[in-house]
Amino acid sequence: MIPGMRNLGNVCYAIATLQCLLRTSFVLGVAPALPGTVAHAVASLAAAPTDEALTRILVGAGYDLGQQQDAEEFLLRMLAATEGASDALRGRQVITTTCPTCGDAVVRHEDSLIQGLCVEERASVDALLARALGAEEIEGATPCHVCLETARRREVRQDLWPAVLVLRLGRTAATLEKTFLAVQLAARLLTPQAEAEYALVGVVCHLGPSMSGGHYVAHVSVEGVWQCANDDHVSVSDPVADTVVAHNCCLLFFQRTA
Ligand SMILES: [Zn+2]
Repeated sequence: MIPGMRNLGNVCYAIATLQCLLRTSFVLGVAPALPGTVAHAVASLAAAPTDEALTRILVGAGYDLGQQQDAEEFLLRMLAATEGASDALRGRQVITTTCPTCGDAVVRHEDSLIQGLCVEERASVDALLARALGAEEIEGATPCHVCLETARRREVRQDLWPAVLVLRLGRTAATLEKTFLAVQLAARLLTPQAEAEYALVGVVCHLGPSMSGGHYVAHVSVEGVWQCANDDHVSVSDPVADTVVAHNCCLLFFQRTA
Protein backbone atom coordinates (compact mmCIF):
# COMPACT_ATOMS: atom_id res chain seq x y z
CA MET A 1 0.00 0.00 0.00
CA ILE A 2 1.10 3.58 -0.62
CA PRO A 3 1.61 5.71 2.49
CA GLY A 4 -1.32 7.96 3.45
CA MET A 5 -0.92 11.61 4.42
CA ARG A 6 -2.14 13.11 7.68
CA ASN A 7 -4.83 15.75 7.21
CA LEU A 8 -3.41 18.83 8.91
CA GLY A 9 -6.78 20.63 8.84
CA ASN A 10 -9.15 20.61 5.84
CA VAL A 11 -6.31 19.94 3.38
CA CYS A 12 -7.89 16.85 1.73
CA TYR A 13 -7.92 18.80 -1.59
CA ALA A 14 -4.10 18.95 -1.51
CA ILE A 15 -3.59 15.38 -0.28
CA ALA A 16 -5.86 13.87 -2.96
CA THR A 17 -4.23 15.93 -5.74
CA LEU A 18 -0.67 15.17 -4.59
CA GLN A 19 -1.38 11.44 -4.24
CA CYS A 20 -2.35 11.40 -7.94
CA LEU A 21 0.51 13.63 -9.10
CA LEU A 22 3.07 11.44 -7.27
CA ARG A 23 2.05 8.48 -9.51
CA THR A 24 3.12 10.36 -12.65
CA SER A 25 6.47 11.25 -14.25
CA PHE A 26 6.08 14.75 -12.71
CA VAL A 27 8.16 13.38 -9.80
CA LEU A 28 11.18 12.93 -12.12
CA GLY A 29 11.18 16.69 -12.69
CA VAL A 30 11.22 17.60 -8.98
CA ALA A 31 13.99 15.15 -8.01
CA PRO A 32 16.97 17.52 -8.65
CA ALA A 33 15.33 20.51 -6.85
CA LEU A 34 17.19 22.56 -4.24
CA PRO A 35 16.27 22.17 -0.54
CA GLY A 36 13.76 24.74 0.67
CA THR A 37 11.88 24.87 -2.65
CA VAL A 38 8.33 23.60 -3.22
CA ALA A 39 9.68 21.15 -5.83
CA HIS A 40 12.08 19.72 -3.23
CA ALA A 41 9.18 19.32 -0.76
CA VAL A 42 7.22 17.38 -3.44
CA ALA A 43 10.26 15.14 -4.04
CA SER A 44 10.60 14.42 -0.32
CA LEU A 45 6.85 13.78 -0.07
CA ALA A 46 7.26 11.23 -2.88
CA ALA A 47 10.01 9.49 -0.88
CA ALA A 48 8.15 9.52 2.45
CA PRO A 49 5.18 11.73 3.37
CA THR A 50 5.79 14.00 6.35
CA ASP A 51 3.68 16.79 7.87
CA GLU A 52 6.60 19.14 7.27
CA ALA A 53 6.82 18.47 3.50
CA LEU A 54 3.04 18.79 3.06
CA THR A 55 3.03 22.06 5.02
CA ARG A 56 5.90 23.45 2.90
CA ILE A 57 3.99 22.67 -0.32
CA LEU A 58 0.80 24.30 0.96
CA VAL A 59 2.55 27.42 2.20
CA GLY A 60 4.66 27.57 -1.01
CA ALA A 61 1.45 27.46 -3.10
CA GLY A 62 0.04 30.30 -1.00
CA TYR A 63 -2.39 28.42 1.22
CA ASP A 64 -3.19 28.55 4.92
CA LEU A 65 -4.10 25.36 6.73
CA GLY A 66 -7.62 24.88 8.02
CA GLN A 67 -9.68 26.00 5.03
CA GLN A 68 -11.20 23.76 2.38
CA GLN A 69 -10.07 24.71 -1.14
CA ASP A 70 -10.61 23.58 -4.73
CA ALA A 71 -8.36 20.73 -5.95
CA GLU A 72 -7.82 22.14 -9.47
CA GLU A 73 -6.94 25.59 -8.14
CA PHE A 74 -4.44 23.97 -5.77
CA LEU A 75 -2.87 21.99 -8.63
CA LEU A 76 -2.43 25.14 -10.75
CA ARG A 77 -0.90 27.12 -7.88
CA MET A 78 1.39 24.26 -6.89
CA LEU A 79 2.57 23.80 -10.50
CA ALA A 80 3.31 27.54 -10.72
CA ALA A 81 5.36 27.23 -7.50
CA THR A 82 7.40 24.27 -8.87
CA GLU A 83 8.43 26.15 -12.04
CA GLY A 84 10.18 23.89 -14.60
CA ALA A 85 8.90 20.69 -12.99
CA SER A 86 5.46 21.39 -14.46
CA ASP A 87 6.79 20.86 -18.02
CA ALA A 88 5.68 17.21 -17.80
CA LEU A 89 2.07 18.47 -17.83
CA ARG A 90 2.52 21.14 -20.48
CA GLY A 91 0.86 20.56 -23.83
CA ARG A 92 0.13 22.97 -26.69
CA GLN A 93 -3.05 23.74 -28.56
CA VAL A 94 -3.87 25.48 -31.81
CA ILE A 95 -7.11 27.44 -31.62
CA THR A 96 -8.60 28.54 -34.94
CA THR A 97 -11.51 30.97 -35.00
CA THR A 98 -13.16 31.32 -38.40
CA CYS A 99 -15.84 33.73 -39.61
CA PRO A 100 -18.47 31.64 -41.44
CA THR A 101 -19.45 34.54 -43.71
CA CYS A 102 -16.14 35.82 -45.11
CA GLY A 103 -13.82 33.00 -44.07
CA ASP A 104 -11.42 35.29 -42.15
CA ALA A 105 -9.47 33.08 -39.72
CA VAL A 106 -7.45 33.86 -36.60
CA VAL A 107 -4.98 31.19 -35.42
CA ARG A 108 -3.64 31.21 -31.86
CA HIS A 109 -1.18 28.85 -30.13
CA GLU A 110 -1.67 28.28 -26.42
CA ASP A 111 0.07 26.23 -23.75
CA SER A 112 -2.28 23.86 -21.96
CA LEU A 113 -1.80 22.47 -18.43
CA ILE A 114 -5.22 21.15 -17.46
CA GLN A 115 -7.85 20.34 -20.10
CA GLY A 116 -11.37 21.17 -18.96
CA LEU A 117 -14.22 18.91 -20.08
CA CYS A 118 -17.93 19.77 -19.85
CA VAL A 119 -19.97 17.01 -18.22
CA GLU A 120 -23.42 17.66 -19.66
CA GLU A 121 -24.54 14.09 -20.10
CA ARG A 122 -23.40 10.57 -19.21
CA ALA A 123 -20.40 9.96 -21.41
CA SER A 124 -17.02 8.28 -21.69
CA VAL A 125 -13.84 10.28 -21.11
CA ASP A 126 -12.84 9.68 -24.74
CA ALA A 127 -16.11 11.21 -25.97
CA LEU A 128 -15.82 14.23 -23.63
CA LEU A 129 -12.22 14.86 -24.77
CA ALA A 130 -13.16 14.52 -28.45
CA ARG A 131 -15.92 17.10 -27.93
CA ALA A 132 -13.63 19.54 -26.09
CA LEU A 133 -11.10 19.33 -28.93
CA GLY A 134 -13.65 19.53 -31.71
CA ALA A 135 -15.29 22.51 -33.38
CA GLU A 136 -18.10 24.61 -31.94
CA GLU A 137 -20.30 27.34 -33.34
CA ILE A 138 -20.32 30.57 -31.34
CA GLU A 139 -23.03 33.24 -31.53
CA GLY A 140 -22.63 36.82 -30.37
CA ALA A 141 -18.83 37.09 -30.69
CA THR A 142 -16.99 40.36 -31.21
CA PRO A 143 -17.91 41.55 -34.77
CA CYS A 144 -15.62 40.20 -37.51
CA HIS A 145 -13.14 42.95 -38.49
CA VAL A 146 -13.77 42.22 -42.18
CA CYS A 147 -17.56 41.74 -42.50
CA LEU A 148 -18.95 42.53 -38.99
CA GLU A 149 -20.55 39.08 -38.66
CA THR A 150 -20.91 38.02 -34.98
CA ALA A 151 -21.04 34.23 -35.51
CA ARG A 152 -17.83 32.18 -35.39
CA ARG A 153 -16.60 28.65 -35.71
CA ARG A 154 -14.00 27.81 -33.05
CA GLU A 155 -11.80 24.76 -33.42
CA VAL A 156 -9.31 23.47 -30.85
CA ARG A 157 -6.59 21.05 -31.90
CA GLN A 158 -3.90 19.65 -29.60
CA ASP A 159 -0.57 19.81 -31.44
CA LEU A 160 1.60 18.70 -28.50
CA TRP A 161 0.43 15.99 -26.11
CA PRO A 162 2.16 16.12 -22.70
CA ALA A 163 3.78 13.24 -20.77
CA VAL A 164 1.17 13.74 -18.04
CA LEU A 165 -2.35 14.62 -19.16
CA VAL A 166 -4.69 16.12 -16.54
CA LEU A 167 -8.40 16.40 -17.34
CA ARG A 168 -10.82 18.41 -15.23
CA LEU A 169 -14.44 17.32 -15.27
CA GLY A 170 -16.65 20.39 -14.89
CA ARG A 171 -19.09 19.46 -12.13
CA THR A 172 -20.53 22.91 -11.59
CA ALA A 173 -23.66 23.67 -13.65
CA ALA A 174 -24.71 27.18 -14.73
CA THR A 175 -26.73 27.34 -11.50
CA LEU A 176 -23.47 26.71 -9.54
CA GLU A 177 -24.99 23.45 -8.29
CA LYS A 178 -22.75 20.39 -8.38
CA THR A 179 -23.68 17.99 -11.19
CA PHE A 180 -23.47 14.27 -10.52
CA LEU A 181 -23.62 12.99 -14.12
CA ALA A 182 -21.70 9.76 -14.54
CA VAL A 183 -18.43 9.71 -16.44
CA GLN A 184 -17.43 6.34 -17.81
CA LEU A 185 -13.81 5.77 -16.83
CA ALA A 186 -11.46 3.38 -18.59
CA ALA A 187 -7.92 2.25 -17.80
CA ARG A 188 -6.67 3.53 -21.19
CA LEU A 189 -7.25 6.70 -23.16
CA LEU A 190 -6.60 7.12 -26.85
CA THR A 191 -6.55 10.74 -28.04
CA PRO A 192 -9.19 11.74 -30.65
CA GLN A 193 -6.79 11.57 -33.61
CA ALA A 194 -4.89 8.59 -32.10
CA GLU A 195 -1.68 10.66 -31.76
CA ALA A 196 -1.05 9.52 -28.18
CA GLU A 197 -2.06 6.83 -25.70
CA TYR A 198 -2.38 7.22 -21.96
CA ALA A 199 -2.90 5.03 -18.90
CA LEU A 200 -5.19 6.28 -16.13
CA VAL A 201 -3.06 6.53 -12.95
CA GLY A 202 -5.02 8.85 -10.66
CA VAL A 203 -8.58 9.99 -10.01
CA VAL A 204 -9.55 12.77 -7.60
CA CYS A 205 -13.12 12.43 -6.33
CA HIS A 206 -15.10 15.15 -4.64
CA LEU A 207 -17.58 13.73 -2.15
CA GLY A 208 -20.43 15.89 -0.90
CA PRO A 209 -23.53 17.71 -2.16
CA SER A 210 -21.84 20.98 -3.19
CA MET A 211 -18.43 21.98 -4.61
CA SER A 212 -18.08 24.68 -1.93
CA GLY A 213 -17.55 22.06 0.80
CA GLY A 214 -17.27 18.28 1.08
CA HIS A 215 -14.27 15.99 1.06
CA TYR A 216 -11.71 14.89 -1.54
CA VAL A 217 -10.23 11.40 -1.88
CA ALA A 218 -7.84 9.96 -4.48
CA HIS A 219 -7.76 6.63 -6.31
CA VAL A 220 -4.27 5.84 -7.58
CA SER A 221 -2.78 3.03 -9.60
CA VAL A 222 0.55 1.59 -8.51
CA GLU A 223 1.83 -0.95 -11.02
CA GLY A 224 -1.73 -1.65 -12.07
CA VAL A 225 -3.11 -2.12 -8.54
CA TRP A 226 -5.67 0.51 -7.52
CA GLN A 227 -5.76 1.99 -4.04
CA CYS A 228 -7.99 4.65 -2.47
CA ALA A 229 -6.13 7.26 -0.42
CA ASN A 230 -8.53 8.98 1.98
CA ASP A 231 -6.14 11.22 3.95
CA ASP A 232 -4.09 8.80 6.08
CA HIS A 233 -6.35 5.83 5.40
CA VAL A 234 -5.47 3.71 2.33
CA SER A 235 -7.53 0.78 1.05
CA VAL A 236 -7.84 -1.36 -2.09
CA SER A 237 -10.18 0.14 -4.71
CA ASP A 238 -11.52 -0.28 -8.25
CA PRO A 239 -12.42 3.20 -9.56
CA VAL A 240 -13.23 2.08 -13.13
CA ALA A 241 -16.09 -0.10 -11.81
CA ASP A 242 -17.14 2.14 -8.88
CA THR A 243 -20.36 4.12 -9.44
CA VAL A 244 -19.55 6.59 -6.64
CA VAL A 245 -16.34 7.43 -8.52
CA ALA A 246 -18.22 7.73 -11.85
CA HIS A 247 -20.60 10.32 -10.38
CA ASN A 248 -18.04 12.27 -8.33
CA CYS A 249 -14.67 12.20 -10.14
CA CYS A 250 -13.39 15.70 -10.88
CA LEU A 251 -9.70 15.41 -11.85
CA LEU A 252 -8.17 12.60 -13.91
CA PHE A 253 -4.40 12.01 -14.19
CA PHE A 254 -3.03 10.08 -17.17
CA GLN A 255 0.53 8.98 -17.88
CA ARG A 256 1.51 8.81 -21.55
CA THR A 257 2.41 5.29 -22.72
CA ALA A 258 2.74 5.78 -26.51
ZN1 LIG B 1 -16.21 37.93 -41.59
